Amino acid sequence: MRRRLRNLSAAMVAALVVAGCGRGDESRPRPSAQPATSAPAAVEPAPTTPAEEPAPPPTTTLPASTVPRAARVQPAPAQPAAASCPAVPSRVEPRPDRPAYQLRVDVRPGEGLVGGRQSVRFTPDLATDRVVFRLWANAPRIVNAGGGIEVFTEDDVPVERPDPTTLVVKKPVAAGQTVTIGLVWNLTLPTGVSNDRISRSGDTVRLGSFFPVLAWHPGLGWATEPATAGFAEASLSLPADFDVTLTIPQGLEVLATGVSDRPGHWVASGVPDWAVSVGDFKLATGTADGGGGSRVAVTVGVDRQVGDAPGPYLEKSIAVLADFSRRFGPYPWPSYSLAITPRLSGGIEYPMHVMQGPGTLGRTTSHEVAHMWFYGLVATNQGAHPWIDEGLATYAEARYEKALEELKAKPVPAEGRGRAGEPMTFWESRPAAYYRSVYVQGAQAVAALGPPDLVDCALRQLVARQAYRIAGPGEVLGALTTVFPDAGSVLARYGIHG
Ligand SMILES: [Zn+2]
Repeated sequence: MRRRLRNLSAAMVAALVVAGCGRGDESRPRPSAQPATSAPAAVEPAPTTPAEEPAPPPTTTLPASTVPRAARVQPAPAQPAAASCPAVPSRVEPRPDRPAYQLRVDVRPGEGLVGGRQSVRFTPDLATDRVVFRLWANAPRIVNAGGGIEVFTEDDVPVERPDPTTLVVKKPVAAGQTVTIGLVWNLTLPTGVSNDRISRSGDTVRLGSFFPVLAWHPGLGWATEPATAGFAEASLSLPADFDVTLTIPQGLEVLATGVSDRPGHWVASGVPDWAVSVGDFKLATGTADGGGGSRVAVTVGVDRQVGDAPGPYLEKSIAVLADFSRRFGPYPWPSYSLAITPRLSGGIEYPMHVMQGPGTLGRTTSHEVAHMWFYGLVATNQGAHPWIDEGLATYAEARYEKALEELKAKPVPAEGRGRAGEPMTFWESRPAAYYRSVYVQGAQAVAALGPPDLVDCALRQLVARQAYRIAGPGEVLGALTTVFPDAGSVLARYGIHG
């Protein structure tokens, strides 16, 4: 068969007109943690922001939208939470119809390029007339720093490019039918400071959200939420299997999602993305108690351009992994790696692999480990419902750091108060309110459910029921309600609806 490469994006980067995406966390509240770029960023409000409490609670336990107005002021009978943690069911297995990626990635820092070839096996649960990939490497923060991706199809199949971060392959697929899509791509690494998931500093390279990813939400269809220009993400995380062959220059080392079963080859199963950090690392290794009798191989690498020592990051990662494995259920994978690389403020989570910048040992380390459960295991549509992974990770961070009361007392800006459940499109024009309104307020909403040990229990219920799946607010509320029957009305006070 003749192979034809179709250039999909020759003029795309120049024609960039919409916001792009990045997965990032503004989990360090100090001003020094704020992104140092011209793009709008999610930042903490100034310490002088007047204290403001979340909206007062309604007194009904019914969804507000279904209750006659007069009824909302009537007291409702109390629905006490369970006195002790109900039995947690066995964790669900990954979906058998999850996608499988085969990736070949050739990292060439000296040329500022990464070459890629991939085939993706995809089985939709609903009929569709297209296969949609998102190209987050064309997010504004990456493009503004000089990066971007060009993608070619391996087959002669019609394609559309509705915007720079969306590639539509016009290929009908029946429900339950399996198709394999081949793509070839060239990624240009940023030449400037991206302060984001795709970057190059000398030979040190961060590659996250860098290859075309399927945007399928089982039961719903394609996720086409617009990208964001902030230090945030608008991506859908779809658990999949990965088989990756990676080529890097001699003398450099790799930390990545998955397990390396032979030199240059990595595998991972039931993970919502694949990411890698390449650099000249000072390494520290250890083992964490992952719960349920499992042992987790933990590796921390600090790039030699960074002055931090790896030891403290290793000790903290091991302690947090063990703590969250007890609170939320066993860590599901055999390894966890953390790369400290230059020119990054805060942290960026990927499954089994986290990227952090210099000086981020404190709350960032615990926050990113929390994302292994809330994003990594319980995957989400982060464009539609950013409160789920960020609010729950911020709650977990506060639990580990013993900062729950401090978290509950933090003021939320007026423009975000009672709106924790809004999508990224709402926050795009309110970047200064994003962190407090979504991260902090989302965590406050969960903390308001009841005693912290029971909240941990409710999150353990959520992880057991929604592991390896994309959970929306309805699934989250359904799980929380097993412990807190009034969870719907409590979260509604904060603007979160199932
Ligand atoms: Zn986060």
